[in-house]
Amino acid sequence: MKIFIDGKYYDERNAKISVFDHGLLYGDGIFEGIRAYHGRVFKLKEHIDRLFYSAKAILLEIPMSSAQITRATVEVCRENKIRDGYIRLVVTRGVGTLGLNPKSCKRPSVIIIADKIQLYPAGVYQRGLDIITVPTTRNLHSALNPAIKSLNYLNNILAKIEANNGGCEEAVMLNAEGFVAECTGDNLFIVKNGALLTPPLSAGALYGITRRTVMELAEESGLKVSEPNLTRYDLFSADECFLTGTGAEIVPVVKIDGRVIGTGKPGRVTRRLEDEYHALTKVSGEPIYK
Ligand code: PMP
Repeated sequence: MKIFIDGKYYDERNAKISVFDHGLLYGDGIFEGIRAYHGRVFKLKEHIDRLFYSAKAILLEIPMSSAQITRATVEVCRENKIRDGYIRLVVTRGVGTLGLNPKSCKRPSVIIIADKIQLYPAGVYQRGLDIITVPTTRNLHSALNPAIKSLNYLNNILAKIEANNGGCEEAVMLNAEGFVAECTGDNLFIVKNGALLTPPLSAGALYGITRRTVMELAEESGLKVSEPNLTRYDLFSADECFLTGTGAEIVPVVKIDGRVIGTGKPGRVTRRLEDEYHALTKVSGEPIYK
C-alpha cells in the first residue's frame, strides 16, 4: 500500500508522523472518510467541501487547494489500484511544541490512505441492528460542534464503548436536552406513516453526506422528508429505523433499548432506499481511471 503524506508516497511501514504532531498530542486536526465504488470516488466534491469547512471552523489552513486535494485523492486510489475501497483523508495541525497552542505548529500535514473497506457483517444488513441509547451525550455545539469532523472522536468513542458494554454495535446518542442527535459514526432516520424523519443538524449531528443523499433519493421518489427534534419515544414508535454513513451505507435497525421497531425486520422503505443508494453508487462519482 502506498500512503500519501505531504506530497510524497510511503509504504505502510514508513508512513509515519512525528510524535510532536498536535494531531496526535491533542486530536487537533480534521478528517474525511470517503468511498470508491466501481472505479469512481463517490461524492468526492461533497467530502472535500466538508473537509474545508471543518478546517475553517478550527482555523486550520490546509496547505493544498481543494483542486489539489481532489487530484491527490484520486491519484492515491490509482496508485493503490483501488476500484472499490475506503479513503481516509486526514489533515493534522502539524508538528509543534508540547504545549497545546497551535501557534507553535508551522505546517499542517495532509495524509491520504486508500484501503479496502471493512463493513458490518452481511447478517447485520439482512437482519438489522439492535442498538441502545447510551449515557454519554453528544458534544454541545457551544463546546465542540458535532458538525466539525475533527480528529477528536473521544465523545463518540465513549458512546461506542458503552454500546459494546451493553452488547451492541452502535449507540443512539442524545444531546444535552435529551433529543436524539445521531449514532457514534452514523446519522439516524426513522420512517413513520410513510414519511422519513431525521434529527435536525442543530440537534448535534454531523452534516452527513449519506444523510443528504438519502434525503434526496427519498424526495425524488415522493417521500415526505422532515427534520424535527426526535425523542426516544419517537424512535420506539417508528415503523422503521435505519442508520446512514459513508462506510456503513444504509443499515436497518430493528431494536432500540429492547423495543422492537415496526415488525422487527428491516422495513420496506429502508430496503427501497438501500436499493436506490446502491444503484447510485454504480453510476456516479469521480472516475479514478480516465
Ligand atoms: N456521524 C458521525 C459522528 C460520523 O463520524 C459520520 C461519518 N462516519 C456520520 C455521521 C455519517 O456521515 P457521512 O454520511 O458523511 O459518512
